[in-house]
Amino acid sequence: MGNGAKAAQKRERNGERNAAKGSKSQAKVNEAAKNIICSVCRQPFLVTTRAPALEEHAQNKHSKTMADCFPNAAK
Ligand SMILES: [Zn+2]
Repeated sequence: MGNGAKAAQKRERNGERNAAKGSKSQAKVNEAAKNIICSVCRQPFLVTTRAPALEEHAQNKHSKTMADCFPNAAK
């Protein structure tokens, strides 16, 4: 059955056009910033991820609390 070939509409608006300056080191920073890992499903989150988002993940995905999934995350 070849139906339902819905093209997912990606509306990614990248308003950053001056990525020329130090984009290399920025990438490194981004990798290092993936510091928070869900202890249940091991999904990485940026260290800058806000607590509400982490809590939402914990509750929606695992029906747990943020502390259960992210014991290392700063509250
Ligand atoms: Zn998880």
